[in-house]
Amino acid sequence: MNFDPDPAQQQWIKRMEAVCKEQIAPAAGEVDSERFIPREHFTALVRFGFAGLVNAEEHGGVGERHTTAVAAGVYLAKSCPSTFFAFLSHAWRVGPTLDRFGTDAIKSRYLPKLNAGQLQGGWALGERHEGNEKFTISSVARKVGEGYRLTGAKAFVAGASAADCFVVLCRMEEPTGPLAAFVVENRAPGLKRSEQVRTIGMRGAHVADLILDDCQVQPWALLAEGDDCERLLEFAQVQSALGLATLGIGITEACLDLSIERATSRKLRGKKLAKYQDVHFKIAQMKTMLDATFLVTVRAAYAQDVGENAQVLAGVAKLQAAETANQAADFAMSIFGGDSYVENSIANRFWRDAQFLQVAGKPLASIRQTIAEKELAQYE
Ligand SMILES: Cc1cc2nc3c(=O)[nH]c(=O)nc-3n(C[C@H](O)[C@H](O)[C@H](O)COP(=O)(O)OP(=O)(O)OC[C@H]3O[C@@H](n4cnc5c(N)ncnc54)[C@H](O)[C@@H]3O)c2cc1C
Repeated sequence: MNFDPDPAQQQWIKRMEAVCKEQIAPAAGEVDSERFIPREHFTALVRFGFAGLVNAEEHGGVGERHTTAVAAGVYLAKSCPSTFFAFLSHAWRVGPTLDRFGTDAIKSRYLPKLNAGQLQGGWALGERHEGNEKFTISSVARKVGEGYRLTGAKAFVAGASAADCFVVLCRMEEPTGPLAAFVVENRAPGLKRSEQVRTIGMRGAHVADLILDDCQVQPWALLAEGDDCERLLEFAQVQSALGLATLGIGITEACLDLSIERATSRKLRGKKLAKYQDVHFKIAQMKTMLDATFLVTVRAAYAQDVGENAQVLAGVAKLQAAETANQAADFAMSIFGGDSYVENSIANRFWRDAQFLQVAGKPLASIRQTIAEKELAQYE
């Protein structure tokens, strides 16, 4: 198998590099300190075609591969992890989920606008007291007249204030009922938002809780129910894991670049930091982990492209990326010395953002359990 980017993929990578260099990377420090991503950043990514990159062409998507999304996404993630994560909800979770599972009514109403960036999508799965897995969803949708009424609360929704519509996961009729997914517009009666949650990292992602206070949705807003919704969630969790793995690769690459820059410019006891063996080992480990994580992530993305079961592969990629990014961020902190401990310093920002990968999406402990169960099953 050859995972080197082909000419079409190289073009996408170049386009992403251009947007990031011009607009995203120079503003990353401000995005973090202001806890806000300017809408122009979203618009720029949309203009270059990234909003509907992996969505079908029928409704205005590009029809590109997930391997391309990973390779190009790394540049966005290393330029500004917050922007990448906010964009992930829109372009990796909401759009592709509607593209594959939406009814005709949902597709024609939302997809052209999501792909064109006229609407921004948010993903609302997690619940504050219950966690981020399907077993733990307890918000409820009840059929009332022609439509539905949703009650409950969704925790930590990225882009909650900017998004125009959300995919909301809940249970049908009672907290133990079948899973159901709805598209809920931000103006839906009964949909409320909490204040912004002041997270330590990913500050620009503008996280808030969504409160479903007898929230009214139209009958056509039902995206999937029961077994269809289980399949939707499995698909979305692979998308999420691929995106988070890409985020981890970007953070690792940024930490490696920053460490090299620092080690080659700072002198200690008359010699460059880059001449010390301890620094060599750290650089070597970062580079090794970076390449390994990239390969495993592209392999998982390829599985998603060709319709292979990508669940375990994507889980491995996310687990590997979370550990790699955190290790690389620790190393960068150490190489930057006392400067890294200064609030809002660049190494510190990547370190805070890397911590997010320890808690984002499906818990790492649960991924480990799935991997182990699959391996052990061969011997039973
Ligand atoms: C900045 C930020 C942005 C976010 N954005 C979104 C978003 O846009 N949409 C969204 O839906 N959610 C979002 N989340 C939610 C995020 O995905 C959850 O916070 C995360 O999945 C963890 O859920 P939890 O806090 O309930 O942890 P818990 O589920 O309580 O897990 C805590 C710990 O319990 C243990 N544990 C949990 N499950 C298992 C298991 N099965 N086996 C063994 N041990 C286990 C692990 O040690 C785990 O680390 C965001 C969170 C943050 C911080």
